[in-house]
Amino acid sequence: MTQKLVLITGASRGIGAATARLAARDGWDVCVNYNGSQQLANEVVSDVEALGQRAVAIKADVGDASQIKDLFDSCEREIGVPNAFVNNAGIIGRASQFVDVEDDTLEQVIRVNVFGALVAAREAARRMVTTLGGSGGTIVNVSSAASTLGSANEFVWYAATKGAMDSLTIGLAQELGPGGVRVNAVNPGLIDTDIHDSSGIENRLEKLAGRVPLERPGSAEEVAESIVWLMSEASSYVSGSMLRVGGGR
Ligand code: NAP
Repeated sequence: MTQKLVLITGASRGIGAATARLAARDGWDVCVNYNGSQQLANEVVSDVEALGQRAVAIKADVGDASQIKDLFDSCEREIGVPNAFVNNAGIIGRASQFVDVEDDTLEQVIRVNVFGALVAAREAARRMVTTLGGSGGTIVNVSSAASTLGSANEFVWYAATKGAMDSLTIGLAQELGPGGVRVNAVNPGLIDTDIHDSSGIENRLEKLAGRVPLERPGSAEEVAESIVWLMSEASSYVSGSMLRVGGGR
C-alpha cells in the first residue's frame, strides 16, 4: 500500500497539532514542522507514534525560503515524499487600527502568511505533480473567515494575507489539477487556540463568541476534521474549494 504522508507547517500547537493527531488516527504518517515550540512538537510526534504511525519533528522558520526548502528535503530524507501538504503556519500581529500598524508587523505577517505560504506551496507542488515525476496529492491551505470578514479595527493586514491564501487556492487548483494535485482551503472562524494571546486583546475569544451564530468558539479539532477530510479520498472530486468552518459566521 502507498504510504500516506502529510507535511504540516506549524504543527507544534493549535490547528496544525490537532491535524497531525487526527491524520494519524486516519493512517497518515506525519512531518511535524515547528519553529519555536520544540517540546510541543516532540509531544505531537509521540502522540502520532502512539497511534501506530511514523512521525518526525523538523524545525524551520516558514518566513525563510531556504529553511522551507530544507524542511521538504529533510522530510524526504527522514520519512518520505509527502503526498499531502497542510499550509498552516500563520501569525496575526498585535491588534490595532490600520492607521497605527507598524512596518515590522506588516513585514512579518506578510513574510510568514503570504511569502512563506507561497514558497511552501511551490515546494510541495514540485514534489507532487505527476508532470514532474511525482505521484500526485493534495494541498490544504489554512486560510481564514477573515478573508471575507475583513477584520476591521483589529487586523486588516492579516485578513488581506488570507485573501491571498484564497486566491492561491483558486489558481493552484486550476494549474495543478492536470498534474494530479487537488488544492483546497479551510476558512476557520473564531477558534480556541493560543493565536489570540498574541493579539494583545484580553479575553478576545470570550468577547467575540457572541457574534458567532453557534454561540461559541470552535475547537482546533473541529477545523482539523475538515482538513483531514480534504486530504482524504473521501473528497476526491473536491478541488478549488474554500470550506468555511466558522459556526455560521
Ligand atoms: P497557534 O495556536 O498560534 O499556532 C501557530 C502554529 O504556527 C505554531 O505551531 C507555530 O509554531 C507555528 N508558526 C508560527 N510562526 C511560524 C514560523 N515562522 N515558522 C514555522 N511555524 C510557525 O495558531 P492557530 O490558531 O493554530 O493557527 C493556525 C492557522 O490557522 C494560521 O494560519 C491561522 O491564521 C489560521 N486561523 C486561525 C484561527 C483561529 O481563530 N485560531 C482562525 C482562522 C484561521 P511554534 O510555536 O513552534 O513557533
